[in-house]
Amino acid sequence: MSEHRGVLVFSDKQDLTLEILGKAREIADGLQTELSTLLIGNNLQEKADTMIKCGADKVYLAEDQALERFQAEAYLSVLHGLALEHKPEIILIGSTKNGKPLAARLATRLETGCVPDCARLSVDEKNRLVGERITYGGNAVAKITFKKKPQIATVPSRAFEKPEPKDHKGQVMKLDVKIEQPKTETIEAKPLETSNVRIEEAEVIVSCGRGLQKKEDRILLDDLATVLCGQVGCSRPLAEDRKWFSEWVGLSGHKVKPKLYIACGISGVIQHVAGIRDSKTIVAINKDPEAPIFEIADYGIVGDLYEILPALKEAIKKQIQ
Ligand SMILES: Cc1cc2nc3c(=O)[nH]c(=O)nc-3n(C[C@H](O)[C@H](O)[C@H](O)COP(=O)(O)OP(=O)(O)OC[C@H]3O[C@@H](n4cnc5c(N)ncnc54)[C@H](O)[C@@H]3O)c2cc1C
Repeated sequence: MSEHRGVLVFSDKQDLTLEILGKAREIADGLQTELSTLLIGNNLQEKADTMIKCGADKVYLAEDQALERFQAEAYLSVLHGLALEHKPEIILIGSTKNGKPLAARLATRLETGCVPDCARLSVDEKNRLVGERITYGGNAVAKITFKKKPQIATVPSRAFEKPEPKDHKGQVMKLDVKIEQPKTETIEAKPLETSNVRIEEAEVIVSCGRGLQKKEDRILLDDLATVLCGQVGCSRPLAEDRKWFSEWVGLSGHKVKPKLYIACGISGVIQHVAGIRDSKTIVAINKDPEAPIFEIADYGIVGDLYEILPALKEAIKKQIQ
């Protein structure tokens, strides 16, 4: 019998930790094992209480001023030390830009496997973790399981719902952290210039594709997004090729889950659709009636976005007044 027991959750983003914790609770209950989470940083007691209310049986605290900001080697040494000492059978890590390399490095140190970006997680009849991730450019879903323990997977934002806090009891344990001397040094950190709300969190997204002819025409989307209290997004070519936006929606960009997604001048190829398929309602505006986006849209408007967006904005404004 394996000496590994328990499920451990870590993310450098608190919201994502909670989302993963909800699913991890289900997995731990199924395996009749303990659920723990690791918090790294400083002054973490309040966060630890939230984790317990949201299902953690144990919260490990790695507190040190040097850990206040993410530092790859230091965070890795804490996580590695914990994994060696407590031997969890499953380690779930938030799929953030810090979390992904951290998970890969941890897997290397522990000589085990790592499945990135699991949008679904389950346990098979042999009690092995099964991760599901989109593959082949969004054309297939791979179900992957593990041969070795610990089983490490990363989980993207919004894959799972945050649990409601309950009267759950748990234990807080302070770790005696010994930080490895970092090989790198952060000289300066600047916040990314984006809007206040992360696009993954937005309830309404007005998104544009190559149907938008000039950068300045973005005002049409901004106007509609403003009346709907939403956010503006885009397809990859507008960010990566034209550099009109800093981030995009889709398989290689943000996976979103809004109540309303309005796709304007977006053809709807699989790589874009992979990022929006969990939206509650999709409205497509496209001048080509054969555009694939209409196959997944709940409502379709065939026409020119330059005419439809201002008309839609005015109609919604009238409804609101
Ligand atoms: C590995 C890989 C990963 C990728 N990841 C992503 C990803 O994460 N996200 C992503 O978006 N793409 C991704 N792509 C790119 C993807 O394959 C498509 O090239 C891209 O999504 C197309 O963007 P688009 O729909 O804006 O442009 P197009 O496919 O050129 O479509 C433009 C649409 O606008 C319509 N249109 C034009 N003018 C108007 C008008 N005036 N009014 C209304 N409609 C109009 C046209 O009919 C057309 O349907 C990826 C590609 C690869 C290979």
